[in-house]
Amino acid sequence: MDLSEVGEFGLIDRIRKISPRGSREVVIGIGDDAAAWRPTASSTLLATTDLLLEGVHFDLSYTDYYSLGWKSAAVNLSDIAAMGGTPRFCLTALGIPATVSAGQVLEFYRGFNDLLRRYGTALIGGDTCASANGLVVSVTAFGEANGRSIVRRTGARPGDRIFVTGTLGDAAAGLELLQMGIREPGRKKKAPGPEAHLLERHLRPEPRIKEALVLAGSGCASSMIDVSDGLSSDLLHLCEQSAVGAEIREEAVPRSPALAAVEHELHQRWPAYALSGGEDYELLFTVPPRRLVKLRSLPLNVTEIGMVRKGRSLTIVTPEGRKRRCGRTGYDHFPRAQRSAAAQ
Ligand code: ADP
Ligand code: MG
Repeated sequence: MDLSEVGEFGLIDRIRKISPRGSREVVIGIGDDAAAWRPTASSTLLATTDLLLEGVHFDLSYTDYYSLGWKSAAVNLSDIAAMGGTPRFCLTALGIPATVSAGQVLEFYRGFNDLLRRYGTALIGGDTCASANGLVVSVTAFGEANGRSIVRRTGARPGDRIFVTGTLGDAAAGLELLQMGIREPGRKKKAPGPEAHLLERHLRPEPRIKEALVLAGSGCASSMIDVSDGLSSDLLHLCEQSAVGAEIREEAVPRSPALAAVEHELHQRWPAYALSGGEDYELLFTVPPRRLVKLRSLPLNVTEIGMVRKGRSLTIVTPEGRKRRCGRTGYDHFPRAQRSAAAQ
């Protein structure tokens, strides 16, 4: 069986099927943003890990080491946030090629630790070795949660409303600007212009930890995931896990003023950046109708973008009122084009 035949998520599913489920204390295993287990009746712990590879996840020709460290921490903490948890500790493992200096590694940890400090999280260990092929970063984060308020990917029901925090598409637009040769004016510049804002959203995303804790504590969200692969992919993940479909109104998807201001410089129309571009690390969640009043009373910047439906498909309603079926267009490490090419 070729990797490109099964795809990233098919492969993960096969790994899950042949792996032990663990003892009864495992509350959530493979399949959600983080795993959860309950070592004692009163505590629920969370764990998640992510790998970032040079040439796959980042390009050192336009990523500075501080930002790389920041982002490596942010993507992990975002998965703890997506469960409604509080991040507590991290482990890091690095594979370092001969081209990287000790100073650059320490700059990576300045960025990493600045992000951890914002959320009261500490680095408590890891591993370091030489790499023959590019910089390898592996981060594991541990968190804790109130068992009753954990929000899974499995709780969405037809009729629930779909919400996102913040704005979508900024990080993908920022990546395109970087690939076009546009660079940050300097990290500490006050009042950055729209381009610098988008670059920052790509290079140093902010995990929505406070928002997730407010949401989880309120009991309003029936399901939640963080937007790491793109709105269409992550919403389809959530739908799959909840055995539902969804309909979203393209016009309702929140776009930042910065993205609107630079859209004419970009190669694609805006919705593509939100739907297929990943790495925004916003929260995507569903709310049953009876909890909408409570949700609106919470101190959160959230936007309603659509509704959970029966079935399994994702439908996008265009501003003209046309409906089109949307597949998974976000990031897959073994994409379909590659799959059919390999099958030929
Ligand atoms: P996220 O984008 O939230 O980090 P992923 O799509 O990477 O989530 O992973 C989906 C689920 O599959 C998670 O529960 C993750 O822990 C699990 N997973 C991914 N790769 C593996 C693997 N190689 N072995 C075991 N579990 C895995
Ligand atoms: Mg996630």
